[in-house]
Amino acid sequence: MNQRILIVEDEPAIVDNIRYVLESEGFTIICHEVGKDVISFLDSNHADLIILDIGLPDINGMELCKDIRKKHLIPIIFLTARSDEIDRVVGLEIGADDYVTKPFSPRELAARVKAILRRTETFRHFPAAENPGQTAGSPFNVDEIRCRITCFSKIVDLSRYEYLLLKTFIKKPGRVFSRDILMDMVWDEPESSMDRTVDAHIKNIRAKLKKIKSGFDPIVTHRGMGYSFKEYL
Ligand code: CA
Repeated sequence: MNQRILIVEDEPAIVDNIRYVLESEGFTIICHEVGKDVISFLDSNHADLIILDIGLPDINGMELCKDIRKKHLIPIIFLTARSDEIDRVVGLEIGADDYVTKPFSPRELAARVKAILRRTETFRHFPAAENPGQTAGSPFNVDEIRCRITCFSKIVDLSRYEYLLLKTFIKKPGRVFSRDILMDMVWDEPESSMDRTVDAHIKNIRAKLKKIKSGFDPIVTHRGMGYSFKEYL
């Protein structure tokens, strides 16, 4: 079956450009001009990836992204037009997977779509034998089929990059990862504000784990070196 991309964007010229390039790559495209029906659409329809404009007529795309994230792990790429939006998106406090700034090249967007979908596929088909699952003594369980991590039996509500980062740590407890290595292992393309991006994600993960258990912080900061994960023996 063709992979289905949902485009949520109100500017017809942009929609047409994206549609043309993605259809020529073999994707099936569904378009929504406003945000209000997107959640109900996703409740009863499948999408492999969402391209989401921040400046929608009826709702801010970042708010919509948060609502989508409450229920769905579908990868999301933002379309942004303003630099003050970019700052919030780069911190990725919202849970998006990537963003492009307008004006953008539809080919470049298509390349990012494919990169994200390739990675999603890799994780979906991860052989069960390599799934670390539950390690004795660890409160974590990694479900690579559903791209889900539980901590003390509660699901940790993670964005895609947060999930990938936390999984990397859980698999190699005790190992110190530099920010460069983490960026290399987890992100498709290095970002310019590399240290800030990794740090922002680590901060989010810590906050989410503390929400599950107050004071719980298995991530160790090594000043000038990077981060490691506590060993559970
Ligand atoms: Ca718009």
